[in-house]
Amino acid sequence: MTDKDKRFPLTLSSLTNKSARGNAGAVTPRVATPQTATRNAAGHVVPVVRVTETQERRAAELPQRQQPLVSDSVRRAMVMRLSAQGIKDTMVLAAMEAVQRHLFIEPGLVAQAYVDASIPIGYHQTISKPYIVARMIEVLRNGGALNRVLEIGTGCGYQAAVLSLVAKEVYSIERIRPLHELARTNLRPMRIANVRLQYGDGMLGLSQAAPFDGIILAAAGLEVPQALLDQMTIGGRLVAPVGARHQVLQLIVRVGKFDWTHTTLEDCHFVPLHAGTA
Ligand code: SAH
Repeated sequence: MTDKDKRFPLTLSSLTNKSARGNAGAVTPRVATPQTATRNAAGHVVPVVRVTETQERRAAELPQRQQPLVSDSVRRAMVMRLSAQGIKDTMVLAAMEAVQRHLFIEPGLVAQAYVDASIPIGYHQTISKPYIVARMIEVLRNGGALNRVLEIGTGCGYQAAVLSLVAKEVYSIERIRPLHELARTNLRPMRIANVRLQYGDGMLGLSQAAPFDGIILAAAGLEVPQALLDQMTIGGRLVAPVGARHQVLQLIVRVGKFDWTHTTLEDCHFVPLHAGTA
């Protein structure tokens, strides 16, 4: 990559055809650009989303006809679709291109990995569709650097991996223990050093790591729990689906110690937020 290429923000065209030169060996980042962009924007070193030999082998072992469905070009096509759907933040698009969504999905469903659809991850839960992941993170970032982010609803860990490329520190809470463990298993080989997974009830937040300048909910409640509002920095942003049958995406900004503004963005559809652990 030339220095010119490294400048942030990146254009979409600069994201294409990036090879992993200089990263020889088993652990090979597929795309160098997002990490560079993150580093430039956040002023710190962010670990690269890495692909292990095992994961490379898993992809290589897929039946021939499935191979193209998980290739880099399919992920690039997904990013072009996200862009056409209105996602503008180049850092978010770069992160979506870098994270290999198919590695978070059970083998039988891998063919759907880059379709814009939510996909079952077990325990009646789903991995959110790429558009909504990108949209929520774009709204959370608002074009600025994110320092400490809390995600409620780790699920399979996909969104946490995307967040790890746009924020300095990511904390993610999951209430269903086997899913918390699944996310651990999925993320471990990627060696992402800035994500902390927590098993517990995310409705209580994570007071030991608060305050957060970004909070993102991957499950819909009838309202956003006060504990989460209290754990935001002043100026912090929270994005959450709110509602039961009819849900909307809400942006909450903490504008003062006792003041929050609420903005309704668009309709959405998420699994429900539940109290307690399972
Ligand atoms: N971000 C996830 C999406 C998972 S779906 C991904 O990328 O895969 C939403 C998740 O929220 C489910 O796993 C569900 O168990 C979890 N959830 C619901 N209520 C919760 C709560 N109170 N605390 C933590 N997790 C919760």
